[in-house]
Amino acid sequence: MEEISCPTCGKDMSQHTGYQIHLCIKKLIKVATNPVAYASVKKKLCPNCKKDMYDHNEEQIVECLNKFIKQVTSKSD
Ligand SMILES: [Zn+2]
Ligand SMILES: [Zn+2]
Repeated sequence: MEEISCPTCGKDMSQHTGYQIHLCIKKLIKVATNPVAYASVKKKLCPNCKKDMYDHNEEQIVECLNKFIKQVTSKSD
């Protein structure tokens, strides 16, 4: 099984509960959509398409992260 580390807290995504995933993703969206906050953190790569989060508009961020959430929460499929 491929290990996916959380773009927010850096821990293995498989060690997150569904609730934690949503919290971390929410934080990531907040940072990535706020230029001031984003400037104060290390560059973050989109966990879905691997591009710089800052190259995304808000819509793309939400779309990418929704795909990412699906990917990390649908392992039992
Ligand atoms: Zn996390
Ligand atoms: Zn993306």
